[in-house]
Amino acid sequence: MAYDHLLKVLLIGDAGVGKSSLLLRYTEDKFDEALGSTIGVDFKVKTVEADGKRVKLTLWDTAGQERFRTLTSSYYRGAQGVVLVYDVTRRATFDDLQRWLEEVDAYAPGGGEEVVKLLVGNKIDRDVVVPRTEAAAWARRRGMLFVETSAKAAVGVTQAFCEVVNKILENP
Ligand code: GDP
Repeated sequence: MAYDHLLKVLLIGDAGVGKSSLLLRYTEDKFDEALGSTIGVDFKVKTVEADGKRVKLTLWDTAGQERFRTLTSSYYRGAQGVVLVYDVTRRATFDDLQRWLEEVDAYAPGGGEEVVKLLVGNKIDRDVVVPRTEAAAWARRRGMLFVETSAKAAVGVTQAFCEVVNKILENP
């Protein structure tokens, strides 16, 4: 089907934060408690309408494990958006964000300057350990968008991807 924009958006972050679950919720409106961890790279396609334009989104998902790190430079090539995901119930996944951001800056187009970055704190249906205000400040200092989500309870997921798409389309 015809579209006006073809966008590549990546999900990154530690294993188990819910990247695959966010994609499954967004593209099929499903949640699978027993979702196996992603082997290598997978992607899903979704067509949305934004700003009166048809936008075809390719959403890429890679496991956070170090053993897949060799995929890095090709994974980032041609991306317009990067979604950095942490798990609000696990502080370590938030502390690792700096390292993920360094990877974005090393491999994404324009040294990370040309991609729209969104911080997502997932699993807000559970007990939150990383305060929302702290994460929001972290994102703001780095010029990133910020949304809290629950892939399980279907909270904030559509909003998260809409924000990325709208911001990408705002850029010339
Ligand atoms: P990935 O490794 O980052 O792709 O993470 P997965 O999508 O495989 O999710 C890891 C685990 O967290 C799975 O057991 C999911 O069912 C669970 N999970 C993902 N999102 C949520 C959420 O929003 N809330 C809760 N409670 N669990 C979630």
